[in-house]
Amino acid sequence: MKLRDAVRALIAGASLMASAGVVGCASAPVRDSASRHVAQGRTTVEVTRDGDRWTADYRFGREAPIWAFSRSELIAEVRLPWRLKQWTVETPGVVLERRGAFDVLRATGGGSVPREVRIAFTPAHAQIEAGYETLAFTTGAVALPTRQFDIFPVDSEAALAAMPEDLNGVQVGPTPVVTWRDAAGPVLLGGERLDRAVTDDGNSYVLFGQVEQVDGERLTTIMDPALPAWIGEQVGGFAPRVGDWYTRRLGRGQTDRPTVMISWNGPTERITSMGGSVMPGLITMSFEGAGVLNPTAEMLTVSRWFIGHESAHFWLGQTVRYEYARDAWITEGGADLMAVRALKALNPTYDDVAALQTEVDDCTDLSRDRSVVTANQRGEQRAFYACGAVFALAAEGAQARATGGDWLDFLKPLIDENRRDGVLSREEWLDALTEVSRDPSLRLDIERLLDEGAPDPAAVIARLFQRTGVAFRMEAGRVVLV
Ligand SMILES: [Zn+2]
Repeated sequence: MKLRDAVRALIAGASLMASAGVVGCASAPVRDSASRHVAQGRTTVEVTRDGDRWTADYRFGREAPIWAFSRSELIAEVRLPWRLKQWTVETPGVVLERRGAFDVLRATGGGSVPREVRIAFTPAHAQIEAGYETLAFTTGAVALPTRQFDIFPVDSEAALAAMPEDLNGVQVGPTPVVTWRDAAGPVLLGGERLDRAVTDDGNSYVLFGQVEQVDGERLTTIMDPALPAWIGEQVGGFAPRVGDWYTRRLGRGQTDRPTVMISWNGPTERITSMGGSVMPGLITMSFEGAGVLNPTAEMLTVSRWFIGHESAHFWLGQTVRYEYARDAWITEGGADLMAVRALKALNPTYDDVAALQTEVDDCTDLSRDRSVVTANQRGEQRAFYACGAVFALAAEGAQARATGGDWLDFLKPLIDENRRDGVLSREEWLDALTEVSRDPSLRLDIERLLDEGAPDPAAVIARLFQRTGVAFRMEAGRVVLV
């Protein structure tokens, strides 16, 4: 699963913004002989740090005029490709450029890209719209997401233009075998320090340099030493509690002893920022800004919500994932409502209605005259969170009427029925809603917002809530939860 969430508030009282992610599957990183894969025609990459110099040496498994990077998400807000800022091709006659939805390597004179290409790069943290981010630590250590170097051959410009942006379910050939090395000493992969790490289709992070790893009873933490102390305390204290609560309600998740890796981008003025993503057994977070220096009541609540959302992905996102990137409303909105229900259960004074009102308002704005499923293409990933939470609220209402249960009662059978194939599809979600509510008109309205949007989304949401018993009133055309 590629999942990446961000909570970023520009302190002048602005709203919290979140953005989400997509795709991919996860298998554990393995160590293996890279040379064997060359013989089999696999592409290999050697990623090396030597002091300040970072290089990636590609040896392509076959001839191709274009090689495209499968993870080519844009930098958030500015919507620019991060590789073009951080990477430089050193091999003559080869260029790195943006083509449609992909960063690509191409031979400048036409013909095939040389079989061996060297790239020099300067890793830096950037907030990426829907992808995994490089983490930079104040110790000089750097954590690189393993799939950052994934590349696949494309046989023509026409074939590239025909590639879907979402590669879920698309066969693009095997991922490269990547070897990771640091001249200064061993790298950290999957809890182990290795002189030379090799990843083969695994979804994880490789840490170069020194950050202390602390193995606790319930969590392993790898935290920037300059991180404001309250954040580490909050993660260490709250993550196990919220994980226990989810386990009680939903059964086993993808892990019961996660690693949490947290970087600190400094106390930038007027910024309050938390970003995160989840991989098998691993939560990464990065914090930034003067706004997170002190544990104000608001910051404590936001950070708990953030931990609750990320932890929820070990169930909704890892135990079961979505089928296509456009279905991210299932995992992101679902994780949002899971977090809200967990926070309320663990702290009855938590204002769940205010949190959910933000979802209703944002969904109303972000589905007006445009479909939710295309939100990725506009950089409006927030729609997945907000509208996904609105649909989850309606499902919860239907569940409450049928059995007196809540959102997690609706979710539990969907997770259990899909533990084997690991995918919770849109059809399965909508079918479950019809079954619980015995009202087939609900899914028609949800599908309308998903696929088309509406001129007046508040009216559609109001009808959904009316038929499922979610308490609200209308105020000047706005759905207000009560
Ligand atoms: Zn998320």
